[in-house]
Amino acid sequence: MQQRSEQLRTEGKTIAFVPTMGYLHEGHLSLMREAREKGDVLIISIFVNPTQFGPGEDYERYPRNIKRDFQLAQEVGVDIIFTPSVPEMYPAGFQTFVEVEKVAENLCGISRPHHFRGVTTVVTKLFNIVKPHLAIFGQKDYQQLVTINRMVADLNMDIEIIGLPTVREADGLAMSSRNAYLNLEERKAAQSLYRSLHTGEELFRQGERSTKVILQEIRKIIEGEALTQIDYAKICDPQTLEDIEDIEKEAVIALAVKIGKTRLIDNLILEGGV
Ligand code: AMP
Repeated sequence: MQQRSEQLRTEGKTIAFVPTMGYLHEGHLSLMREAREKGDVLIISIFVNPTQFGPGEDYERYPRNIKRDFQLAQEVGVDIIFTPSVPEMYPAGFQTFVEVEKVAENLCGISRPHHFRGVTTVVTKLFNIVKPHLAIFGQKDYQQLVTINRMVADLNMDIEIIGLPTVREADGLAMSSRNAYLNLEERKAAQSLYRSLHTGEELFRQGERSTKVILQEIRKIIEGEALTQIDYAKICDPQTLEDIEDIEKEAVIALAVKIGKTRLIDNLILEGGV
């Protein structure tokens, strides 16, 4: 892969890159379509990265369907699919990690303590292998996007990072490979995430600025559904990801909710004010 990328760079081609864990859906494809527009060559990776899963999480049962992924990737015009194996990425003796500090500590950093270390390490490795000029990520994983932006700035990585909006199902549920875990009843309960974010946004639009008040309403909606268990519901500064009490300019509402055994995340940016 490194040789291929080096060759493409020598030919003066712009490499656009979309890293994924596969089981592709319309959210992934939207990133690929944009990358197709922005680069001469579109490379994606499909790698379920073990170092970003904690013990007892869903690494083993994470959904996989490489045949279907190849088909979908082909349909959106992907040029190269990079699918390394785990031993290729983490051979015996591997012991180097990339760790971003503050922005990775709140939100998912609390319940998944080594998650972002795994993400930033694998993304660094993928960047070094694929050598992209630009890489595209989804705002669905908002903290991941902020963390990667931080890493790229802090470590002087010569790569443009582009964040794109969350693609949702018709009822508002953010598309996710993990939605495949949900049974019918859980799928219905999962609507409460977006419904609560939407209500939060409405309150903000009506002038409410207290995060306590907005979060109370959000929690009420999610807890109103059976099968839900809130991991966190927070309103944070969109750059530092620190909790805020009163919204001055912009903020991000961030949620992680377990529906049965499935942990889903979602977020919504509040901007502009009234
Ligand atoms: P994943 O395969 O879940 O690691 O996701 C790969 C990339 O797709 C990440 O940059 C995600 O943020 C992005 N992504 C996942 N779901 C969505 C979505 N519903 N809308 C937009 N981007 C998404």
